[in-house]
Amino acid sequence: MSERPYRDIHRRKSRQIHVGKVAIGGDAPISVQTMTNTVTSDARATIDQIRRIEEAGADIVRVSCPDEESTAAMKAICKASRIPVVADIHFHYKRAIEAAEAGAACLRINPGNIGSAARVKEVVQAAKDHGCSMRIGVNAGSLEKELMEKYGEPCPEAMVESALGHAKILDDNDFREYKISVKASDPFLAVAAYRALAGAIDCPLHLGITEAGGMISGTVKSSVGMGMLLWSGIGDTIRVSLSADPVEEVRVGFDILKSLDLRHRGVNIISCPSCARQGFDVIDTVRLLEDRLRHITTPMSLSIIGCVVNGPGEARETDLGFTGGGAGKGHGQVYLNGEPVYRIDNKDLVEHIVELCEKKAAEIEATRGMQATK
Ligand code: SF4
Repeated sequence: MSERPYRDIHRRKSRQIHVGKVAIGGDAPISVQTMTNTVTSDARATIDQIRRIEEAGADIVRVSCPDEESTAAMKAICKASRIPVVADIHFHYKRAIEAAEAGAACLRINPGNIGSAARVKEVVQAAKDHGCSMRIGVNAGSLEKELMEKYGEPCPEAMVESALGHAKILDDNDFREYKISVKASDPFLAVAAYRALAGAIDCPLHLGITEAGGMISGTVKSSVGMGMLLWSGIGDTIRVSLSADPVEEVRVGFDILKSLDLRHRGVNIISCPSCARQGFDVIDTVRLLEDRLRHITTPMSLSIIGCVVNGPGEARETDLGFTGGGAGKGHGQVYLNGEPVYRIDNKDLVEHIVELCEKKAAEIEATRGMQATK
């Protein structure tokens, strides 16, 4: 137990699988993934988007393979991608085999939806031959007809029964490298389904609130749904689903993990909403800093607070801080490692804080390097 037991999250013990070089489950860090929205057969456009996704820090990227042209492009895409590529397949078993042959690290496919046992065997064999894992992806909106007839509507019981049915097919084929998702756009339904599934099987779980909506509403819905699950220790990999740029999905995914202290990447900015007491323009400064600090991947914390009401207290808890000196004063206090060190003019604020963050990142990395060589 830590010094602050109210912050402890006890992760569910799942078995570990791999998506390419990325471990999922067990004690592996919770990975962040997203999905491209380019036309997959346009390999150039898809690779360009994957580059931006990689830069945002994604661990894994998923690519739709709706047709043969897409799986034909997968060879170039998988070769160019620096992060493992998951092929998203619906129904057509041949696309799965082609994607495995093309270098996909994982197949998102539901074995119960691809027809005969012989076809399942072929797909499983292709996955085994090419080192692919699989994700069973149950979605409340596309449950099997029999389950809809049995339960009358999408419900947690139906989603779990569907997931376990697909898992049994893989188990029966002696294939254990799989993870499962049970997504719904309704966070109540998704959370209940994930909770029930977490107690019924030991494979890693891929979390998502599907079709969550646009940038703001989707972020809120995903944070509430996934936040509840992650807080209770459920979830080994996450995908935030937004009607927005995939890069935003990655940023929101990391922010969710950061807010629960589950994983850190880059500068975690703590800032106040600002009010008449602010000594500088907090909102504009934070907007500029978020942009200027994006290149830093080393985890660290920074407080940007408008005045002394909350500034010194927040600065004590962060690596770096700036607190406004009061309305009209034109300067503020810089904090390093929780201690006040000197004042600077507000006009130098952004440049100075960027410089300090870069310096701090270099220091942290140097210390890490020294510890690793000991
Ligand atoms: S910290 Fe100061 S400026 Fe910021 S919201 Fe609170 S009182 Fe206003």
